Amino acid sequence: MKQLRGIAVSPGVAIGEALVMDTEGFRIPRRFVARDAVESERERFRAAIGAAGREIEENRDLVSRELGEKYGAIFEAHLEILRHSRLREDVEEMITQRHYSPEYAVSRTLRRYAQVFRNLRSHYLSERAADIFDIEKRLLRHLLGRRREGLAQLTSPVLVLAHDLMPSEAANLDRRFVRGIVTEVGGPGSHTAIVAEALEIPAVLGTGPFLTEVSGGETVIIDGDQGLVVLHPDEETLARYQHEAEEHRCLAARLEQLRDLPAETKEGERIKLLANIEFPEEVEHCLARGADGVGLYRTEFLYLGAKTEPDEEVHYQAYCQVVRTMGGRPVVIRTFDLGADKVPHLPQPEDQRNPFLGLRSIRLALRNVPMFRTQLRAILRASTLGQVKILFPLISTLLELRQAKLVLADVMEDLEEHGVEFDRQIEVGIMVEVPSAVMMIDRFVEECDFLSIGTNDLTQYTLAVDRSNKDVIPLYNPTDPAVLKLIAMTVEAARRRPIPVNLCGQMSGNPAYTMLLLGLGLRQLSVPPAAIPEIKRVCRSVRVADCRQVAERAMAMENARDIELFLRGELRRHVPEFGA
Ligand code: PEP
Ligand code: MG
Repeated sequence: MKQLRGIAVSPGVAIGEALVMDTEGFRIPRRFVARDAVESERERFRAAIGAAGREIEENRDLVSRELGEKYGAIFEAHLEILRHSRLREDVEEMITQRHYSPEYAVSRTLRRYAQVFRNLRSHYLSERAADIFDIEKRLLRHLLGRRREGLAQLTSPVLVLAHDLMPSEAANLDRRFVRGIVTEVGGPGSHTAIVAEALEIPAVLGTGPFLTEVSGGETVIIDGDQGLVVLHPDEETLARYQHEAEEHRCLAARLEQLRDLPAETKEGERIKLLANIEFPEEVEHCLARGADGVGLYRTEFLYLGAKTEPDEEVHYQAYCQVVRTMGGRPVVIRTFDLGADKVPHLPQPEDQRNPFLGLRSIRLALRNVPMFRTQLRAILRASTLGQVKILFPLISTLLELRQAKLVLADVMEDLEEHGVEFDRQIEVGIMVEVPSAVMMIDRFVEECDFLSIGTNDLTQYTLAVDRSNKDVIPLYNPTDPAVLKLIAMTVEAARRRPIPVNLCGQMSGNPAYTMLLLGLGLRQLSVPPAAIPEIKRVCRSVRVADCRQVAERAMAMENARDIELFLRGELRRHVPEFGA
């Protein structure tokens, strides 16, 4: 048994069979071969060695011609490993003795070799594991050919173990069968975390390297509450987690009874509990959980899940589905927030050394006006079907907001000219997620209809901590007093104007923060659908006066750690059910 510690990004417990993704995002299939096929499978393996060897030789010759023999010699080490009798013997033994398919045998053997390198103390030598993975990749490519499959074609439940998931993989994974996710890299604000939470799949990210120790097929436990992953669990651990999974189901069933009760505090102050969604199908979850509306529709996932840029009709159909299903409840559609870690199959800007500070989000939209217009047209067309609002992401200057509104006004004029119906009074809001927007918030509230505070980015940009980098995660905390001050300033500015203000960062889905947020004056929270019952439970168990006191005391503290501990204590005191 081996336990890994990572970052808990999506709650729940998952127990099941591991599916390992190779470094190119393809599955390593765990298959067995029939007894009478052993010889032909061994032959297939030898053929793959031959083909891979020829390929490496070609690369060597090409590089030698272009750059000289010294450079070509870099490939010699790969050739030697590939053709060494040890590799051949180890793999063939697995095929013959254990009846593993060549793919699985190659992967298990080479991952075992890579682990030897990883265990070496020298950083340089441990990095050589990458060469072993390279050979694995090459052999798998030859063995699987066109049969290589991603996460979209599964046939049985699995827990996905990967180095990282590309945005397109996360957006396209087969939701019927993926029951849990573990990745070596990534942090709480990454696209993988957001998708896992949306799909209600327990997930632990940023565990650090461990993929040399698994090849798929083994039993794994993912503890999405504590951020733990257990490989090859013993009987006792398995039984403990089975019990925990059952408790999760019981709690969910208890919370379900809250669905039709309003989210209001003990003295009857109504709180709007909205849902964050990434995929149109999620609206069903919103309704099942009793959401008051969609507070944030992250439309960039339309691009991430597609091979080509979605046209107006694709946008329109997605928005129609969401707006119609929500039946008159508000639906806030955020224009695409692409770039940074959400990168689609579109041409990327060349210089993206700091993608989170680069051509991302509204900046990308204003540089690609035709693409932006296409989306705005679709949103406007769908606005006749319900209560649609437009939200611009990552606004950092007034000029940006004005430019975005100009494009919108232009699209409206165009639709009008063509006699296309839309809601002329459609509300326009901004995401408050860059400190500069907070500094200028008094000016912003005069130029938009509502605000939505995005604490995922606000935390990242205030504290200068990359939200998807596991190495700086201890510094990434939305309860840092600096972030809380910015939230308080935003809420206060919205109250003075007055315009509605929502908080849609992931912190709004954490019950430990609900009292604080209500105490800071928020009356709208937008959370992943699965978190609605828990947050509602907290709202219904507290008084606004108590929340104000909690917020006041938290704001007087000096660091996130103290605030966090204090908030957990207050939650335990007021809602013992969530005291963990
Ligand atoms: C945020 O930044 O808090 C937010 C809600 O937007 P995203 O997570 O999509 O960047
Ligand atoms: Mg954001």
